[in-house]
Amino acid sequence: MNMKNYRAELTGVFGDPVDGNPTGVAMEAAFAEKGLNYRYLTLKVLPQDLEDAMKALRVLHMRGINLTMPHKIKVIPLLDELSEAAGIIGAVNTVALLEDGRLFGENTDGKGFVQALVNKGLSVADKRITLLGAGGAAKAIAVECALAGAASITIVNRTLERAKELAATLKEHTKVEVACEKWEAGHRILEQTDILINGTSIGLHPQGDQKPDIDYTGITSRMVVVDVVFNPVDTHFLKEAKKQGATVVNGLGMLACQAALNFKLWTGVEPSLSVMEETLGREFA
Ligand code: NDP
Repeated sequence: MNMKNYRAELTGVFGDPVDGNPTGVAMEAAFAEKGLNYRYLTLKVLPQDLEDAMKALRVLHMRGINLTMPHKIKVIPLLDELSEAAGIIGAVNTVALLEDGRLFGENTDGKGFVQALVNKGLSVADKRITLLGAGGAAKAIAVECALAGAASITIVNRTLERAKELAATLKEHTKVEVACEKWEAGHRILEQTDILINGTSIGLHPQGDQKPDIDYTGITSRMVVVDVVFNPVDTHFLKEAKKQGATVVNGLGMLACQAALNFKLWTGVEPSLSVMEETLGREFA
């Protein structure tokens, strides 16, 4: 008789603040849908305790962990191997404990972004991209779009220095054409833009009534307009873009796609994306 296994495989997220992180709901729903005995733990880890927490990951034989603020960069010296994108971005949002005991770091934020577009029949290859923002999410998106063959990326940021740093990273590691613009009030979007991305936190709950300060009349029906903000799902930025006739993609797709990539990395199984997206959507309804 086979012995019954009462031990669940553990995954989760380390962060601080982390209480409001909704990923666990989607992960647990997707594990259940596939009949996998996995758990996703939302764990508060203070900056000074990250090293101990990463040791605990090994000690507890966890399958892996997500990292959120403030651990995405600080975790790198504690890992054994990085994906190409995580190495270029210089930040890790997902760690997998490999069979041989090594810790592998990946960044699925940008990959989730590219995949969310692919799922809508859209591609970044050969596209001219205008990216608002140069923070962590924008960097991950820019690197993956460049690696996926985007023709050009124009980075528009309030702090020009940060845009220049991102541009230098892209030039060093990828073949994409890059330009930087300092964000001015009522910023005019380049006419030739194919894909316009809000990669900033403008419009994020509880400031859901705000939108990036750009000239919305510059958006055309030819453009694809994407928001990284997922709470609220239907942001003012996307509402304005819709009024101009653009094709819009919300931040929920990126969030669900990066969670799905993490799921696959830890379990080896392809999750149901619709279960993840619907579960997350209910959290922000
Ligand atoms: P960061 O703090 O690293 O970067 C914030 C960016 O927004 C910077 O470029 C900053 O400009 C800009 N910004 C913020 N406020 C303003 C403002 N009032 N005017 C102009 N620019 C502003 O944040 P993250 O990159 O980590 O996160 C950004 C957003 O992406 C968040 O809303 C987050 O929830 C979302 N996100 C979504 C994901 C998804 O799966 N959909 C995944 C990861 C993040 P400056 O450099 O000048 O300060």
